[in-house]
Amino acid sequence: MSTQEKTPAVRIRGLDKTFVQSGFGSRRRVKALDSIDLDIGRGEIVALVGESGSGKSTLARCLARLESPDRGTMEVLGEDVLRTQRRRASREYRSEVQMVFQDPFGSLNPTQRIEHVLTRSLQLHGKAGDDLRSQLVDLVESVGLPAEVLGSFPHELSGGQRQRIAIARVLAVEPEVMLADEPTSMLDVSVRIGVLNLLARLRDERGIAILYVTHDLASARYLADRIIVMHRGTLVEGGESLALLDAPQHPYTQMLVGAVPDPAREAPFDPEERARYRAEIETWAGSPSERVLIDDESGHWVWKPKETAQDD
Ligand code: ADP
Ligand code: MG
Repeated sequence: MSTQEKTPAVRIRGLDKTFVQSGFGSRRRVKALDSIDLDIGRGEIVALVGESGSGKSTLARCLARLESPDRGTMEVLGEDVLRTQRRRASREYRSEVQMVFQDPFGSLNPTQRIEHVLTRSLQLHGKAGDDLRSQLVDLVESVGLPAEVLGSFPHELSGGQRQRIAIARVLAVEPEVMLADEPTSMLDVSVRIGVLNLLARLRDERGIAILYVTHDLASARYLADRIIVMHRGTLVEGGESLALLDAPQHPYTQMLVGAVPDPAREAPFDPEERARYRAEIETWAGSPSERVLIDDESGHWVWKPKETAQDD
């Protein structure tokens, strides 16, 4: 294997981001990202999971260069992007890293036909060829839509179709990395699986590395090669999806896993159990911690209190 093949698609080290929030005469500092280290391999799907407010979007937005971190490094394909891409989200950078947002309507201009939207993406990134029409047809067909949608306006399409167009627009650019921030959370349950399958196909057929941001563990399990769990700006546990979900180590992960509806469990999630998890999470968060490798083979690791590590 050459060095180039071994360079991950994304390599993040020590990323910090603090927001200052003001309101009612008070100012509050929120550490949205706290010493984040994260690698995404080429052609790998990594799911970033955690409750609302844990910092998932901030991490994706930093990687998309929509937000500037306070500290740390981000490499894409071995290139230090904070140094070489000083301007936020240049066109050159966009051709390597593309983002799909939660709201499939907000990201499309309502006055432009789909044909126009996709043509513009191809042209902006110098991908428009002599046979533009067949390029456009290929694009919509590759996301499972008929050629007729090219003549439609965004409002004439369903949420699921619009999200597929947003993905087709990413494909027009042929990026190495795709950031998908809750791409299915505003879609009907019935069409979610189709969008997830489409993301899996992009990984398999085009080798695109994907950061899949979600609060939904079930979809992460379905789609991702690896799952990374985020709690209050910190990555607390990670590993191969199935290995991690079979034996979650961090109380926060255990709580999230316990909250997934399980037909086998008669009673709904027990509030007392939840309170116990919350208390344990606070204890873990307040202790001097270290990163412990649980399983070498699956790469399963957890960020846990030092004392606990010596106990067992
Ligand atoms: P998630 O995507 O996991 O829900 P976010 O990254 O959106 O989490 O937010 C993480 C924290 O950072 C939250 O406390 C949020 O209120 C805060 N935050 C995010 N963006 C901003 C911003 N532009 N200004 C101030 N605070 C922000
Ligand atoms: Mg978010």
